[in-house]
Amino acid sequence: MSGPCLFCRIVAREIPADIVHEGERLLAFRDLNPQAPVHVLVIPKEHVGSLAHVGDPARDVLGELLLAVRDLAAAEGIAETGYRTVVNTGRNGGQTVGHLHVHLLGGRALEWPPG
Ligand code: 5GP
Ligand code: ZN
Repeated sequence: MSGPCLFCRIVAREIPADIVHEGERLLAFRDLNPQAPVHVLVIPKEHVGSLAHVGDPARDVLGELLLAVRDLAAAEGIAETGYRTVVNTGRNGGQTVGHLHVHLLGGRALEWPPG
């Protein structure tokens, strides 16, 4: 039933993932079901359920997540062509994994607004 969540298990290397970056507090890996040529998920290694669950003491990790996206976009070669950064939160936000994650999507033109 409970126990470590899916992304915590990726952090613990209990589930394999195509990891593209690991830092002290962050992990980045390719999405299993990519929606664009580049689709990377960046997560805090410490479990937090969603953006709605980030307490003020954890605020620094939010900045780190976005700076990691910036650097990963450059590393993936999409900094110049552009990319989208998405944080789905809760049911209406379309969040399906209950561990905060930032999507980095790029490598093709993305539609706006989302459906
Ligand atoms: P959400 O819908 O919660 O914003 O995004 C969750 C993302 O996690 C989805 O894009 C989904 O494809 C991805 N995902 C779900 N399970 C796994 C997994 O086991 N490994 C990886 N790498 N990605 C996953
Ligand atoms: Zn977790």
